[in-house]
Amino acid sequence: MSNFDSEHIWHPYTSLSKPLPCYEVESANGVYLNLEDGRSLIDGMSSWWACIHGYNVPELNQAAQTQLEKMSHVMFGGITHKPAQELCRKLIELTPTELDKVFLADSGSVAVEVALKMAIQYSNGMGQNRHKFLTVRNGYHGDTFGAMSVCDPVGGMHSLYHEMLASQLFAPAPQTRFGEPWDPRDIEPLARMLDSHQQEIAAVIIEPIVQGAGGMRLYHPDYLRELRNLCDRYQILLIADEIATGFGRSGKLFACEWAGITPDILCLGKALTGGYLTLSATLTSADVARVIGQSDASVLMHGPTFMGNPLACAVACASIELLQKSNWQQRVSQIEEQLRGELEPCREYAAVTDVRVLGAIGVIEMKQSLDVARVQEFLVERGIWLRPFGKLLYTMPPFVITPKQLSTLIQGSVSVVIG
Ligand SMILES: *Cc1c(COP(=O)(O)O)cnc(C)c1O
Repeated sequence: MSNFDSEHIWHPYTSLSKPLPCYEVESANGVYLNLEDGRSLIDGMSSWWACIHGYNVPELNQAAQTQLEKMSHVMFGGITHKPAQELCRKLIELTPTELDKVFLADSGSVAVEVALKMAIQYSNGMGQNRHKFLTVRNGYHGDTFGAMSVCDPVGGMHSLYHEMLASQLFAPAPQTRFGEPWDPRDIEPLARMLDSHQQEIAAVIIEPIVQGAGGMRLYHPDYLRELRNLCDRYQILLIADEIATGFGRSGKLFACEWAGITPDILCLGKALTGGYLTLSATLTSADVARVIGQSDASVLMHGPTFMGNPLACAVACASIELLQKSNWQQRVSQIEEQLRGELEPCREYAAVTDVRVLGAIGVIEMKQSLDVARVQEFLVERGIWLRPFGKLLYTMPPFVITPKQLSTLIQGSVSVVIG
């Protein structure tokens, strides 16, 4: 690792006193990350769910170049432009009919902040002034203070920021797994909390079907369906955080489709630009937007400097077009089938407690925590890029990965498990 990094640059969740090794990437192409020492690694992480088409994609490069020659950025206050209009039109078209108002921001965490603000201002507009959020344990919604307050209290290290952090309501995490028979008792604790706190709750926020960074858990669509019913019954808004799951990752374009539900507020990010640039979107209904207009502030109180960045919007449009033109459903289901077939045997090993697969997501859960630095070194030697966390070794590869590349990736993971 370069000394400069370890002395001066923080990487995600790292310490500058005890820095972890870093691998220097010089370029990336297709599913490969090319290291400056000449080695190439198959990327099993899609740069954290984002690069669904892989790297250095001609269509996305072209979109960026064309837009760059027009303008890279202009402020969005009092100004508009075609890339933002075109992207919002596409997002409205792709998502359920009710969701037709869009707020563009610059990262997933900010999309969540905006969703929380929408819910609070909606409640204010309704004359209720509710300020609490209900969520489930094992969730992850981002690292800013609002988003962090609805992350898992233990995994999100709430104790560290206790004095600053809003205290929210946490139901147990969904227990019925995806693919198992639905147990109606699963939703009861949440139902009871909704009932007893209904006067305080501005919204329920949840990651649909896939709980990502909070444990890579896959839960039953009926949980989400029942949650939608409960929110309707108590007239409480439902926020779906599809920042990780959006754009095909779970096998549906959006994971909410597994349950056939429409949230009141939807957060998108990560794969929105095919992983090229940082951009997010928060969508809501005309009704929610109208009530926000009746709130004390009358305007939605958010406006990032780089809101609606034209470069990012143009690439997002190209990424959505590319996804629609590709046979992504077939690709994702082939990846799913192969992950199931080749990961399933890991169950036999004593060190493994669970294997789970959905869409282009494969997870091996171990008995013991993995040593990130050691596992990465082992995998890099085999031409593979994965980033384990805690007891989880998992992959969400670019959709363009070939069966042979995926096999290499899986066999490498299996070698880690065998030890
Ligand atoms: C990554 C993620 C976020 C945060 O997005 P950033 O772009 O990292 O701020 C929020 N919610 C979910 C479900 C995520 O996976």
